[in-house]
Amino acid sequence: MDVLNSLFRKAEAVGLLGRLASHGLAQRASFFADDALCRAAISACVGNGRQVCFWTDQWLLGDSFDNLTPCLWKKLSPRAKRVSVAEALADDFWIRSIGTDLSLPEIEEFLSLWSSIHMVVLDVSDDLFRWGWCNSGSFAASSAYAAFFRSRELLPCAEEIWELRAPNKCKFFMWLAVRDRCWTTDRLSRRGLPHPASCPLCDQEPESISHLLLGCVAARQVWALILHRWGLPLWLPGIEENLQSWCSARISPERSRKDVNIGITLVCWCTWRHRNAVVFEGARPDFRTVLRLLDLEGVAWTRAGLLKDVRFSFASSVGALWSVRE
Ligand SMILES: [Zn+2]
Repeated sequence: MDVLNSLFRKAEAVGLLGRLASHGLAQRASFFADDALCRAAISACVGNGRQVCFWTDQWLLGDSFDNLTPCLWKKLSPRAKRVSVAEALADDFWIRSIGTDLSLPEIEEFLSLWSSIHMVVLDVSDDLFRWGWCNSGSFAASSAYAAFFRSRELLPCAEEIWELRAPNKCKFFMWLAVRDRCWTTDRLSRRGLPHPASCPLCDQEPESISHLLLGCVAARQVWALILHRWGLPLWLPGIEENLQSWCSARISPERSRKDVNIGITLVCWCTWRHRNAVVFEGARPDFRTVLRLLDLEGVAWTRAGLLKDVRFSFASSVGALWSVRE
């Protein structure tokens, strides 16, 4: 991200983004010469050779000569490294800029380079640059971002979380939770920050987000009641369950599963709220409090149209469940 931000800031500073958009491509590919990301995307078709950099642009053999002939590149002066193709070929300036007293690897690279370019003939047409990450060949910031993030790892349930029909604060919470970024005891401990000695709800096990939301005895009591109500008792999480893998297997993109996805989010959110009430407000840990929260929130979410399938609604059932056991 820093690379792209830096790139676009520089481009914007000299007005190049506008030119890229209007002309379809970089008029000076050398502007991007220090950015490997963009160098990989830009290729040049040489016409008169005045705008293409001889050493650093990809205009022959599919790569730039500073990569193909690294020994020769090291021998060049700063000015020689910046010459255009037209300047380099004029009176064989590129040969004179390399100098004499070449080592064996340098001689090999020189012969390879000479054999590649001795047949190059310039004409009167303008040089053309092509942005390789768009079929049109024109620069688009979106294509640069897409290429930059192409190799990133996506959580299996990431898209489903962000597309949940739920309040943003709950979606952010679920995103942080599945990525283990919530400030539970284990995370506080790793950062050397003050933290409770054990899980605030059960006071038995070390607290992690997976334990708090799935493996804790309090959480499992909540899940057992809810999943029984949903007709999904086999989903009951195990004591050592990992939140990310559990959610990834259950938060599904299927249309019919939207209410289940929202329901899972609501259970996690209410458990987290109760945990914070215990830690910060001195509330008494009790799984029935989580059920009360689910009842209240479930009614609100149903009235707001977030929970539509009555099978997965909390409004009419959870209250009865906890009141029976209270
Ligand atoms: Zn616990």
